[in-house]
Amino acid sequence: MRMDTVIMGGGLSGLACGISLAKRGKRVAIVASGQSTLLFNGGSMELLGHVNGKAVTNPLEAIATLPESHPYSKIGADRIASLAERIKLLFSDSGIEMTGSADANHWRVTPMGVAKPAWLTLNDHLRIDDLNNLPAKRLALMCIRGYFDQPNAMLAQGLRDLGFEVDMIEFTTDDITALRRSPSEMRATSLAKHLVSNNALRRLADQVNSLAGDTDMVLLPSVFGQSDSSDYQALQAMAKKPVRLVSTLPPSVAGMRMMTQLRHYFRMLGGTYLMGDTAVSGTFEGDRLTSITTAKLADMPLKADNFVLATGSFISRGLRADYERVYEPVLGVDVDADADREQWTHFGVLQPQAYFGYGVATDGNLHCLKQGKPIQNLYAIGSVLSGHDAIKMGDGTGVSLMTAIAAADHIRESK
Ligand SMILES: Cc1cc2nc3c(=O)[nH]c(=O)nc-3n(C[C@H](O)[C@H](O)[C@H](O)COP(=O)(O)OP(=O)(O)OC[C@H]3O[C@@H](n4cnc5c(N)ncnc54)[C@H](O)[C@@H]3O)c2cc1C
Repeated sequence: MRMDTVIMGGGLSGLACGISLAKRGKRVAIVASGQSTLLFNGGSMELLGHVNGKAVTNPLEAIATLPESHPYSKIGADRIASLAERIKLLFSDSGIEMTGSADANHWRVTPMGVAKPAWLTLNDHLRIDDLNNLPAKRLALMCIRGYFDQPNAMLAQGLRDLGFEVDMIEFTTDDITALRRSPSEMRATSLAKHLVSNNALRRLADQVNSLAGDTDMVLLPSVFGQSDSSDYQALQAMAKKPVRLVSTLPPSVAGMRMMTQLRHYFRMLGGTYLMGDTAVSGTFEGDRLTSITTAKLADMPLKADNFVLATGSFISRGLRADYERVYEPVLGVDVDADADREQWTHFGVLQPQAYFGYGVATDGNLHCLKQGKPIQNLYAIGSVLSGHDAIKMGDGTGVSLMTAIAAADHIRESK
């Protein structure tokens, strides 16, 4: 099979790159082995949340101060603002409605009630633009009876610490009570599957309307809409107060929804998404990758003019470690990591961990290096890249999206 571009990895970065190329008429295949880290997503994208332990207010200004090894510096700090606008457009074209700005972080609220800096947040999720000017005074925190993936007491305390008055209100409906017969059904994704019909949403809205009293805003866990936001919109239309969603512990319905919408848009543009297949090896000729082999298409190598490695970090098995080394398992490209394994981790689990910053080494144009030399038609994007730390810096999704579009631009310019 011959394509213009083959992308290994179908998470946020692989899909954003694939969409950007398919939109310009390129024949693109994505090999996608499993679920992505969007399953952990709290309904927001982060561009840059922290530098040197301090919360960032203006990501664009802070990006200009990052070291050369950071993926943003490879793209060029001056390009980030225009890429940010293109990414917002990519989301809205995919049906994902988010609000935010690259030059002013807002705050998202975690399931534990902690406010974290964010770049874009889904319009149906709680977003705080200014901690000194909260979007509501008194909140009705609606707690679904028997639902354990939202630590309600911690969330309520966190919201109070931010300055909200919070009424914790436990509730259920017949539809939810029926689900409780099997405790394993009380997960965000199962609730989202069942809270879809107009009747179920009507019963839920009736409960919210009768219990929310004279609060200003209703907060519900993010358990609505696995494929789009229409269930939330139907609920909001029936509710008498503004309703906002708060992210839950994984699996994240918001993340699944974004994944579904991006995948759908990619396919609509003519892209080929090889779901459940795994890239296993590649064939190189000189400084080029000529084909890759996948587990399911073992006898039919995928050939292309360009290839993109978007296989994610350790959690997605895009990077691996054995006793002696950290390595990239598909193509054996170079990895930036400490040779001394004593340096990989810190015994204090809350301390910064060096291995979070490990990843595939690239040149300034995101070409993967193999034995120190750039592979001219192979790019690395997203969390497989070295030089950033999504946990410490809050830059994971930003790096994934920015490098995805930057690599797509390089590929388009390469012919
Ligand atoms: C626990 C956790 C929570 C997070 N929460 C947030 C958050 O709330 N907000 C935020 O902004 N960011 C968050 N991030 C960071 C963010 O999710 C990531 O930075 C970003 O989504 C990474 O996207 P990616 O496409 O680069 O990698 P991934 O999402 O890891 O996707 C890589 C994909 O490649 C596939 N793959 C791997 N190997 C192969 C192969 N050989 N062949 C084919 N496919 C392969 C994997 O199965 C996976 O689907 C979080 C990350 C983690 C780990």
